Amino acid sequence: MRTKNRLTSTETRYFKPEFQSCPYCNSKLEYCHTVSKKTISTLKGVLTLVNMGYRCSNKNCSHPETVYRSAQADQLSMKHITYGMDVLAYVGQLRFKEHKTRKEIMDILNTEGVTVSERHVQKLYERYSVLLRASAENYAKQEMKKVTELYGGIILSMDGVQPEKGNETLYVIREVLSGTIVAAKNVKSSSTEELMEFIRPVLEFGFPILGFVSDGQQSIRLAFEKLSPDTPYQYCQFHYLKDIAKPAVDSDRKLKTNIKKKLRGIREIEKKASKDVNNLESETALAYTAALRSVLLEDGCPPLELPGIKVFDQTKKIQKSLEKCLDKKGDPFT
Ligand SMILES: [Zn+2]
Repeated sequence: MRTKNRLTSTETRYFKPEFQSCPYCNSKLEYCHTVSKKTISTLKGVLTLVNMGYRCSNKNCSHPETVYRSAQADQLSMKHITYGMDVLAYVGQLRFKEHKTRKEIMDILNTEGVTVSERHVQKLYERYSVLLRASAENYAKQEMKKVTELYGGIILSMDGVQPEKGNETLYVIREVLSGTIVAAKNVKSSSTEELMEFIRPVLEFGFPILGFVSDGQQSIRLAFEKLSPDTPYQYCQFHYLKDIAKPAVDSDRKLKTNIKKKLRGIREIEKKASKDVNNLESETALAYTAALRSVLLEDGCPPLELPGIKVFDQTKKIQKSLEKCLDKKGDPFT
């Protein structure tokens, strides 16, 4: 356990700019003033960081007023936050990876010697989310750059997910060729105008756009069309297939339900056969009912693999086999 003493034993670190000579005229830089002095809590203790500003010593330099500072010092903490980046990263890890609550995070940090309140934890967590979003955007841009080099442009798709009726809808924009999520936002109304606001920054990244894809939602289609009328537009093939196959999928479901109804009698056969398991007839009957039960669990993968048709085919096969068996043996259930 660390003692609370550690918090007051402040260490002061001085930082100079990373380069020593002027990038414009190559003259030596000289100290002018402190650009920042700030005390931060880190996982290694409380530190005071002094970032010392330097200027070009050449009075005839083209940039005599430019002040150079240490990037390393700036990297240790974010602006307006008195905790180190290491604490920030730790909060993010505890929250996202380990799903700790604010209170739990506060307790952990306090035992690690970082004095923090629940409100501070919340603030750190928000900052972490901002950083995460910024890095996700960078990642998306890199992916879109790669796709553009390969295919000459990107394809954007957009879809809305509403977790519960009446709630906000989460809209997600994806780059289709790479599968990268480019942007996501909770939107209160799904009006064309609001969706345009959401899409616009993505278009402003400036990558050439080969096409847009979405489901049939009109406000999405209009938003894309208004922002970029000349870009080709296509309905999402998955949604299209799902919609067009709906009548077939519905009748298939009815088929499966009917087969299930007809096979309700197997429960009685199972009961009868279980009473006397030590003869071949009972064993055979139970094997058949087990086969039927497993067939009835078939879900298929609609609309390409219809479960009703599958169940129909397989129960037919079982029926045939059963008939053969009865021809040989006589009816085992009487
Ligand atoms: Zn200079």
